[in-house]
Amino acid sequence: MFNLAKSKAFVILGQCRGATKTQLCMERLALNGIFLSRSPLSSSSSDKVYDVIVSGGGLVGTAMACSLGLDANLKGKEILLLEAGPKKVMEKVPEAYSTRVSSISPGSATFLSGLGAWDHVLNMRCKPYQKMQVWDACSDSLIAFEKENLQEEMAYIVENDVIVAALTTQLQTLSDRVNVRYRSRVTRYDWPGSYSLADASPSSPWVQVTLASGEVLHTKLLIGADGANSMIRKEAGIPHVKWNYDQSAVVAVLQLSEPTENNVAWQRFLPTGPLAMLPLSHTESSLVWSTSHEHAEELVRQDEESFVDAINSAFWSKHNQSEVTEMAGSMFRTALSVLMPTGSSARQLPPSVAGVSPESRVAFPLGLGHASEYVRHRMALVGDAAHRVHPLAGQGANLGFGDVACLTEILSQAAFNGKDLGDLQHLLKYETDRQRYNLPMMTAIDLLKRLYSTNNEAAVLMRSLGLQATNSLPLLKEQIMSFASR
Ligand SMILES: Cc1cc2nc3c(=O)[nH]c(=O)nc-3n(C[C@H](O)[C@H](O)[C@H](O)COP(=O)(O)OP(=O)(O)OC[C@H]3O[C@@H](n4cnc5c(N)ncnc54)[C@H](O)[C@@H]3O)c2cc1C
Repeated sequence: MFNLAKSKAFVILGQCRGATKTQLCMERLALNGIFLSRSPLSSSSSDKVYDVIVSGGGLVGTAMACSLGLDANLKGKEILLLEAGPKKVMEKVPEAYSTRVSSISPGSATFLSGLGAWDHVLNMRCKPYQKMQVWDACSDSLIAFEKENLQEEMAYIVENDVIVAALTTQLQTLSDRVNVRYRSRVTRYDWPGSYSLADASPSSPWVQVTLASGEVLHTKLLIGADGANSMIRKEAGIPHVKWNYDQSAVVAVLQLSEPTENNVAWQRFLPTGPLAMLPLSHTESSLVWSTSHEHAEELVRQDEESFVDAINSAFWSKHNQSEVTEMAGSMFRTALSVLMPTGSSARQLPPSVAGVSPESRVAFPLGLGHASEYVRHRMALVGDAAHRVHPLAGQGANLGFGDVACLTEILSQAAFNGKDLGDLQHLLKYETDRQRYNLPMMTAIDLLKRLYSTNNEAAVLMRSLGLQATNSLPLLKEQIMSFASR
């Protein structure tokens, strides 16, 4: 239990430059104690204390619950998953593809396989691809990533509903270890602390979770998987760096004009934003077109023919290219082909689009967000609650699965050593490990977005030469691939 005067001293200490990890740890404990504790227990609360409550059962929260339920060292722990929405299982895969898909990296596929969910994904539906071609609408430069001899999968396009259904199916087999409650919206969180500011009486040592029904639950550790607008992050007062990209992503299911092997993910950078076509089957692909809000709105409203014309023209048109950059690019390409004759990959043409599935067009506003702290005493954030990225690199869910793998490992170790799961000391290790990986990835994605959002000639020339040079360096491309494949 903290004493108010002491806690204040810790806050001041922690604000000093060069505060040690212990001071930081104390500061966060104090912050919880002073500012976050609220009213004492509600009358509808029970005495049961969960070891872990995961709040939010999207892609990441459901994976978190599965991962904790499967861990041998966490056997016997009381684990609860709360999800505001309904249960998502799939008795039968719908014929029509869902609009929301994710590119799942080989690392995430291995992780999901470890949870026993990947087999369910394969039994339902997913499309592997072996190559990715990224090119610039303002020049002729391109970069292509491919696995040797196109034998290995570069990544998999999977509908989000399929991933959640696969994880849910797996969760059902863990019903003796993980409790799940659907249609259970959390309306309030009360944090453990020494004294409530209101009445100076001791509050619960646990996190209190109040549901819309009025029921109050208690947990030693709350895991926030409640998405980009995380209520947990906001209520905990965690500083959050964020900005909007002034862009929306239009997503849709596209019909190709003829059947193809469809094993390439295509992305073209237009000055207004990137446009991606991701394979779903021999005849269908998924569109993710990031553009201004106004243009996105127009694309969603357009009749089918105009929409299809707009997509084909966005992939094929040369009207953003200037003679100067084209000439410089072509000279540079010739020089590279002399110096590194086997290096660069040949250009391929994307398939043309013939139609769009009815009602599949939706627009999502895009932004970046990063919680400067992923943990507090008895609380940890995972997935979009901790970090939100632009979809251009298809990394959001993959970063979330990385969080889950890391947090499970740390909690498993803590349980093995008989430690309190909500102890800030080991939660801070999770934060350090994940921020070390997530921040460089987020920075790279944001820089790419900025670099390609202009048709200024100098910038176009610089990025074109850079892209072409990178395309001729197989070792560098392999490093980029291995970083993005985790
Ligand atoms: C257009 C687009 C394309 C994308 N493409 C890719 C891609 O190719 N690859 C990739 O890896 N990522 C991609 N992403 C990102 C990816 O979709 C997200 O990173 C991922 O869905 C985040 O999952 P999450 O579980 O953290 O959050 P969410 O999916 O937002 O889930 C949060 C869950 O919490 C629940 N919840 C919220 N509040 C409460 C509450 N108070 N009580 C109870 N439950 C609550 C919600 O009902 C929801 O189920 C893309 C994103 C967009 C917008």
